Amino acid sequence: MKTISIIGAGTMGRGIAYNCAASGLKVAVQDIDINNLESCKKYVERQFDVAVEKGQLTRRQASEYKENILYTNSLENAVKQADLVIEAVLEMMDLKIRIFKQVDEFAPKHAILATNTSTMSPTEIGAQTNRPEKCIALHFFNPVPKMKLIEVICGLETSEETVEACFSFGKRIGKECVKINEFPGFAVSRMNCLIGNEAMNMVMEGVGTVADIDKAIKLGLNHPMGPIELADLVGLDTRLRNMEYLYQTLGEKYRPCPILTKYVKAGRLGKKSGKGFYEYPYEI
Ligand code: NAD
Repeated sequence: MKTISIIGAGTMGRGIAYNCAASGLKVAVQDIDINNLESCKKYVERQFDVAVEKGQLTRRQASEYKENILYTNSLENAVKQADLVIEAVLEMMDLKIRIFKQVDEFAPKHAILATNTSTMSPTEIGAQTNRPEKCIALHFFNPVPKMKLIEVICGLETSEETVEACFSFGKRIGKECVKINEFPGFAVSRMNCLIGNEAMNMVMEGVGTVADIDKAIKLGLNHPMGPIELADLVGLDTRLRNMEYLYQTLGEKYRPCPILTKYVKAGRLGKKSGKGFYEYPYEI
């Protein structure tokens, strides 16, 4: 695989774009929101600067890799030369299906179409295309350049060839892949959403402050981050959509904590909006 197209330049899309470009691949990033495309470009360029400062890349390599990235708001331009398309738009089934149908029309016949969904069915998404055997979920983690794992989730019709190609791609960009059978929330989101939601319920019940619950779980269970701090990093709107889908598909234990719903209604979306359970007085 030489050319990777990423649809959606938000929290995940920009991380995937940087990771692929920094591995020497050609990248096209598409978003309908020009402001998000611009902030994606700023983020990617800053990551390259940091890699040069740390001695991970030479200045020359970094500028060559930057040249390999196309930022566009045209879906057709973004995918017309793709070997692999990774969709990273909002966690909404109807939106993902609409994008997959368009990508199916514009991308070369050999291209693999992947969704970065955290919870949803790649079978349902792939079934709406003319190439379900080339559709799959590649679930990256946040922040992408630092997180080693990709969960590879096969739909009912996904071919073994597609899975193998995705494992090779994962290796090429420095990731470890794990093959997971399709079920709502896969392995990681199913566990992680439950932990985060329970931590928010504890805040609501007055068990402790946000900071103390995070500190307790971090130090008591040896987690690198507290569960509420992690939800802020993910984006509370994204987390709420994940919880709503898991609640619909897996039932009561995934009922979203009312504080989460309230914060999203107030526009407190976590780190990306400057305020969630914590405050972030700087641009990310
Ligand atoms: P986000 O809200 O940060 O970004 C979504 C982007 O999609 C935005 O830039 C938006 O403008 C763009 N978009 C919306 N409609 C579009 C369209 N029609 N065409 C092109 N672009 C469009 O969301 P995110 O957190 O990056 O999540 C993206 C996906 O990744 C979701 O499915 C989410 O569940 C999954 N995911 C998120 C995380 C996380 O930690 N945030 C981790 C793993 C997986």
